[in-house]
Amino acid sequence: MTTKPLTDWPEAFSRLALHRPIDLLLHFPLRYEDESRVMRLADFRLGDSGQAQVRVVDHRVVYKPRRMLVVQIEDASDTGLLRFLYFQESMRKTFLAGQQIRVIGQARLSGAGELEFVHPRVRQGWLSPEALVDQPLLAVYPTTQGLAQHVIRRAVARVLRKESPPEWLPETWRRQVGVAPLPEAIHRLHLPPSPLQPALMQEAWNRIRFDELVAQQVALRRARARRFAHRAPCLSGSGELVSRLLQSFPFPLTEGQQEAWRQVRTDLVQDRPVHRLIQGDVGSGKTVIAALAAAQSVSSGYQAAVMAPTELLAAQLFDKLSSWLAPLGVEILGLWAAIPKAQKRRILARAAKDQPCLVVGTHALIQKDVRFGRLGLAVIDEQHRFGVAQRIALRERLTSPEGLRCHILGMSATPIPRSLAMTFLADLDISVIRDRPAGRKPVQTRLMSQSRREELLTRLTHFLDHEGQAYWVCPVIEEQEDTDRPLKALEETQAWLAPVLGDRLAVVHGRMRPDEKTAAMARFASGAARLLLATTVIEVGVDVPSARLIVIDHAERFGLAQLHQLRGRVGRGEGQSTCILFYSPPLSETAQARLKALYESDDGFELANRDLALRGPGEILGMRQSGDPELRFTDLVRDQALVNAAVTFGQQIAMSYDDSRALQAVGVSKEAIDSLLSRWARRADDVLTSV
Ligand code: ADP
Ligand code: MG
Repeated sequence: MTTKPLTDWPEAFSRLALHRPIDLLLHFPLRYEDESRVMRLADFRLGDSGQAQVRVVDHRVVYKPRRMLVVQIEDASDTGLLRFLYFQESMRKTFLAGQQIRVIGQARLSGAGELEFVHPRVRQGWLSPEALVDQPLLAVYPTTQGLAQHVIRRAVARVLRKESPPEWLPETWRRQVGVAPLPEAIHRLHLPPSPLQPALMQEAWNRIRFDELVAQQVALRRARARRFAHRAPCLSGSGELVSRLLQSFPFPLTEGQQEAWRQVRTDLVQDRPVHRLIQGDVGSGKTVIAALAAAQSVSSGYQAAVMAPTELLAAQLFDKLSSWLAPLGVEILGLWAAIPKAQKRRILARAAKDQPCLVVGTHALIQKDVRFGRLGLAVIDEQHRFGVAQRIALRERLTSPEGLRCHILGMSATPIPRSLAMTFLADLDISVIRDRPAGRKPVQTRLMSQSRREELLTRLTHFLDHEGQAYWVCPVIEEQEDTDRPLKALEETQAWLAPVLGDRLAVVHGRMRPDEKTAAMARFASGAARLLLATTVIEVGVDVPSARLIVIDHAERFGLAQLHQLRGRVGRGEGQSTCILFYSPPLSETAQARLKALYESDDGFELANRDLALRGPGEILGMRQSGDPELRFTDLVRDQALVNAAVTFGQQIAMSYDDSRALQAVGVSKEAIDSLLSRWARRADDVLTSV
């Protein structure tokens, strides 16, 4: 298939990201207009669009209220008018009495109360209903300003006539999955025979989805294989440091933690760079795994880096990891923006040395001035919080001088539904921590209307005085972070709470200086402050086990995953915790659905599944920055069976990719797979840069 653009490729095509003929073939219609259905004039109701086959009775040019051509028409059922405000003399020939024409347009009522069509499309000749059966339906394409439907239709038809990708899928697989052959599928979706046959269309759509999924699967698994072609340090240290760390934890590991650690330990002794993602609901204890992995790296004579998405979180991780590892003699350094210059220089110099240590920080860790002398492991906490560019920078920068690539351990508290993990994350190894530390009671979730503000304040002060600490979260909608409105909400609440709570109140929001934030957090973590009033800066990872109440102000403004994350700030220690969804009525239907889901379930995986249905994969994976990251045609919830088949098949292909005999056994050729990948390349690239 050629990749050379057609000579008269309209500029507007590029705006739709249609750069190659194949892109155009994969630019499928949104819907079809049925030109084969002919209506009787008597059946038109006002506003109806449709077509009729009529006979011209007569035509005349009238001059009042202005010059126009009026054509009288009739069919067996009724009569009507066509009205042309602009017309050419030649049109009169079309409308000679007795001519048979087709009229396509929208019905309205004339001043005189007659059925009329203003500027309808007109075709000459009479087409019998039988002759129309094979007439294709008219495709209506996604388009952009200045690009008419017929331009797309014509370009598609031209490409279709010249070239179409050949079938590449073995017949046995095709039958087993129950999809149409590729050339037919493409042809049928652009030019479906009339009348529309849903089962045939479904087969065609499923074929496109299957190709899309297989391409994604192969691309990601190839990326994984390419990563494994690099070398990594074998972190097979004595294990003594790790044993001492395990003994020093004030708790036994949960089963999920033990299993995850077993897998990570196995990774770290490989001489290939492993990238594993640890998925565990909020509070499942992922930091423990990070500490163990870091200890393993250090005891093997290599450095470890732990990167967090915010300064608040980095500082907190630094404290936690220091409390566990410093007593065992591990050198720990913190690196983020607020750290004074002189100190930063010392830390950079230390990291550049060829000696083991642990560096905890923010994206400051991947700035140009940072060099690691002997990096064995990078842990990325809340991996999906890092933007695409940062993840690429990370991959490039965290290579040690001998050309060894470090192992990467990602952590995510956003539970990722299985179907999503199987597709978008197919290049990663995944561990799931499903259980939570023993003795944790599920958080009680309550809905409370904001009309009960004063009552809530009374209960809150009582709670703070007698029971424990609490969070109060005000919404900051991401895009509006810099506008005044959401912060005002926080300031208003602060003005309302401050007189009552005095120095029992601590405040943290995105506009404070980092050192102010850290100081406020420290006051809260130490128990000196009882209530932390905050924006969503506390959403990710903040860990203060003695906080057992969280009020989410304007809960209706948050997404499901975000609400679940926020709720996860409590329920981290002993005793019963409560989450109050403090909402402002009236609730929209979707807000109601979200709050109801949250009320009904505290299982992050189940909520993630519901979220996938509500919002799609892009938002869950945090890939919104990467443009158009979604699978274009596949819906992971709806197309579960296709996903499963594509994953199995894609794996077989990827495994045999470098061995032409093995590929042959799978029933495909390398060339066919390469052109499959190039057809969908736009997608595969997006996906690759997003993980
Ligand atoms: P997350 O998975 O959300 O990052 P953390 O690692 O912050 O969770 O752990 C949440 C809290 O649970 C911390 O206070 C941590 O010390 C504690 N914790 C971790 N593992 C266990 C365990 N096995 N038993 C009891 N408490 C644990
Ligand atoms: Mg965490």
